[in-house]
Amino acid sequence: MSRRDELGERLAAVEERVVAACREAGRDRAEVTVIAVTKTHPASDVRLLAELGVADVAENREQEAGPKAAECAGLGLRWHYIGQLQTNKAAAVARWADVVHSVDRLRLVTALRRGAEQGGRRLDCLVQVSLDPPLASAPDALAGALGPRGGAFPSQVDEIADAVAGSGSLRLRGVMAVAPRGGDAAAAFAQLATVSDRLRKGHPDASWISAGMSGDLEAAVHAGATHLRVGSAILGMRPPLR
Ligand SMILES: *Cc1c(COP(=O)(O)O)cnc(C)c1O
Repeated sequence: MSRRDELGERLAAVEERVVAACREAGRDRAEVTVIAVTKTHPASDVRLLAELGVADVAENREQEAGPKAAECAGLGLRWHYIGQLQTNKAAAVARWADVVHSVDRLRLVTALRRGAEQGGRRLDCLVQVSLDPPLASAPDALAGALGPRGGAFPSQVDEIADAVAGSGSLRLRGVMAVAPRGGDAAAAFAQLATVSDRLRKGHPDASWISAGMSGDLEAAVHAGATHLRVGSAILGMRPPLR
């Protein structure tokens, strides 16, 4: 089977899952955007996905994503950045990304704003929320296994959101989270929905909820996710990350 056919089959299977989840949740399929997570996969795959009708792609490392986005310029894709972001890489990401899902601290807001201003761009931003149990209360082994995953505590979201909303070159779109590894995804996404409800009291337009990956997209749709970040279910296995 050609790579194109393989990607087409996987895309169709994911679409079936999303349609079924929306039906069960009583939601309109049009409320949910599937973002293909192309990290570690080559630009040729991005090109095939674009031909197959994919409009949104996501990357999680600046060094890899910048050149890939440049190579795929002109395909009309919307590029999402979903990885943890170092402050000194923010300006580089602001040059090619259309949406940054991982805004989790005030210094990053400042750096992204500057980068977007310099490039004369407007950047959509989501505040990443940590749904991990506080490390202090987790057993050492669990804390070690979790590692640093990024995300603001729910109590910090308002402050970060206000900073995004108050900076002309950034646009506050909503919240993002990754379910805790080995935890209860449904409970985590319900918590994220609560954070989103609270955020929208002050920022009614910030209605995006980025949640759900290959393994838990159904739970995310049930909890109201508007954006699913789907990697391996569309692109197949990734080589293990360093
Ligand atoms: C890699 C990644 C995904 C996609 O994960 P899959 O399990 O391959 O679907 C989604 N979100 C984030 C933040 C990721 O880093």
